[in-house]
This record gives sequence, C-alpha cells and structure tokens, in this order.
Amino acid sequence: MLHRIRRWLSPHLGIDLGTANTIVAVEGEGIVVDEPSVVALKKGSREILGKGTAVGRLAKQMLGRTPESITAVKPLRHGVITDFELCEAMLRYFLHKARRERTSRSRPTVVIAVPGCITPVERRAVFNSAERAGAGRVYLIEESRAAAIGSGLPLSEPLASMVCDIGGGTTEAAIFSMGEIVSQQSSRVAGDEMDAAIVEYFRKRYSVKVGLPTAERIKLEVGCAYPLNEALTTEVRGLDMASGIPRKAMVTSDEVREALEGPLNSILETVTQTIERTSPELAGDLSETGIVLSGGGAQLRGLDLLLQEQLGIPVRVANEPRTIVARGTTICLEHLDEWKSRLDHE
Ligand code: ADP
Ligand code: MG
Repeated sequence: MLHRIRRWLSPHLGIDLGTANTIVAVEGEGIVVDEPSVVALKKGSREILGKGTAVGRLAKQMLGRTPESITAVKPLRHGVITDFELCEAMLRYFLHKARRERTSRSRPTVVIAVPGCITPVERRAVFNSAERAGAGRVYLIEESRAAAIGSGLPLSEPLASMVCDIGGGTTEAAIFSMGEIVSQQSSRVAGDEMDAAIVEYFRKRYSVKVGLPTAERIKLEVGCAYPLNEALTTEVRGLDMASGIPRKAMVTSDEVREALEGPLNSILETVTQTIERTSPELAGDLSETGIVLSGGGAQLRGLDLLLQEQLGIPVRVANEPRTIVARGTTICLEHLDEWKSRLDHE
C-alpha cells in the first residue's frame, strides 16, 4: 500500500529525448509532455528567457524569426547532447511540467531512450543531465528497442523482426532476434536533412531562398516519397536570390519528392545495410515479419510504399509513430523489476 502511494506521488517517467522533440510519458497515465527540443536564450548569454520557461513549443516558434536580442538553441544534434547545460535546463523544465500536480519531492525513476550507437561519453552526458535535472534512478534503453516494444513486436521470439526509426537528426535501423539486437545501423540523414534538401532544391531550381522552417512546412504539407494518386500543391514564399525581393510560387508533391531523392536513398541504404549484416536465415524471416517504421519521419507520405517496393518485404508504419518510443519506455517501466538487469544503468 505504502509502495503504491509512493508510486502515485512520484510515478516513474519514460523519456524520449529526441533531437527534434522530447516526449515524456508517466506510467499508467500516458504522454504528458510532447514538445520541441529547443530553448530560447537572451543573445550573448546562457539565460533562458521567461525565467526559464522559454522552452519547447514557445522556443521553437522563435527559430528562424527571432529578433536580434534572442537566439533559439537545440541542445541535441544527431541524437546526442551537444550542450549539456541547456539540455539539463530543458529536461528540468519538462520534468517539472510532467509532475505538475504532484507535491512529492522525491526524485522519479526514469527510463530514457538513447541512440543505439551512443559512445560512453555521450552516455555519461545523458545520465548527468537527467540526474542534475531532478531524476532519481536513471535507466537507458536503446531507442530501437523502445520502438519495437512500443509497437508490440515479438522481440524475444527466435524470429527476426525489424524497426527503422526516422527522427529529426538520425535514422536508426535495428533487427532483433530472441530479445537481442543482432544488427543495427545508424545514419545522420533523417528529417532535418530532408528539410535541407528542400532548401537546396529551391535554390538550385528556382534561385529562391527559403528557410529551414518553411522547408519543413512544405515537407509536412505536400512531401511524399512515392507518387501520390492525386498530387498536392502548396504556396511557398521565399526570397528571389537575384533581385532580393520576396516571391511567391506554387510547389507540387512531385517536386518535393524529387527534392527528397538524396535523403530517401540514404535511408534506404541504412535499412539495406542493416539487413545485409545479418544472417541469411534472419534476413529471410523479415520477408514474413517485415519492417515497422517509427519516428516523425515515418509519417512522410508513401515512405512505407517506397521501402516496400525497393526491398521486396512488407513495411508498415507504427501506430502513432512519433510517440511510439516514449510509449515503449513506459511499457518498460511497467516491467522494470523484471527487465532492469538488461537496461543500462549506473
Ligand atoms: P526526434 O526523435 O529526432 O526528436 P521525431 O521522431 O520527433 O524526431 O521526428 C521529427 C522529424 O519528423 C522532423 O524532421 C519532422 O519534420 C518530421 N515529421 C513530422 N511529421 C512529419 C510528416 N507528417 N511528414 C514528414 N516528416 C514529418
Ligand atoms: Mg526519436
């Protein structure tokens, strides 16, 4: 009983600390924080605006359109922490938000999803940031394992299964058999690179300069990886590079598909290499079990169809792919006593 009250007062938290978004889930309750991994600072200082509250959604709105006196910073790049201090401040704010109604001062146990190929130094940085941000016991889990658990894949069976997570900064592919990761591959080409490819396309093709936030909007509105039955169009506003004057143009989904060719080929290559590095038996299983796509990038229209056509194995997008890693971490919390020996902890 006491244990249950304590657990209610200070429930365990699952955290997907992503390059683009941080998602926090409370055991038994679900997702309580889902915000961009961004903080806004006063220029030339390390002070977060709004007494430490210019974090997440509010800060992301400032990216690309901040006045001179403000900078918006992302504390992670390609899945790893690049600014410890700001990452810690961001986590502290999100942890506080996640526990808002609770008065308990005890530190919550957390499970944090991290990239599979994290170095010992990077791993240390995650432990430190989380502890200093107010976490109690900290466990780390590979993102792909959390994604696989979240999608309900039969991980412990002697039959291979595969996930590919496409986030903002990294694409992570992994194959599991009997509970172990038997092959994994990570690349730095994911959603952010898609945005950059769209910027580049407009520059080369139309001599128009568009910013990264605009490129992301175009990707979300009309982006696709496979020809659509009905093409989509949207309006783009950018700067004409010759005259320096703002210009409007219409862009179609076919054009965006062309713009995304480079990053899409790279994602395909990451998946192919992961499969090639496993045994023919396990690779053979995949023609039955297929691949599950997770992460925000998995929502790109037709990405499943493109991969399925190129690889010749079934590909499906996880249910609510953006939050599947965070949900995987909470499933992990429910079985913590049983699984903690297999998780990475201090
Ligand atoms: P991370 O794990 O790096 O925090 P997420 O899994 O949250 O990243 O995914 C963020 C990426 O997904 C961003 O690049 C974003 O533009 C992209 N994204 C989100 N929704 C869509 C969509 N509908 N189509 C294409 N890309 C999307
Ligand atoms: Mg992610």
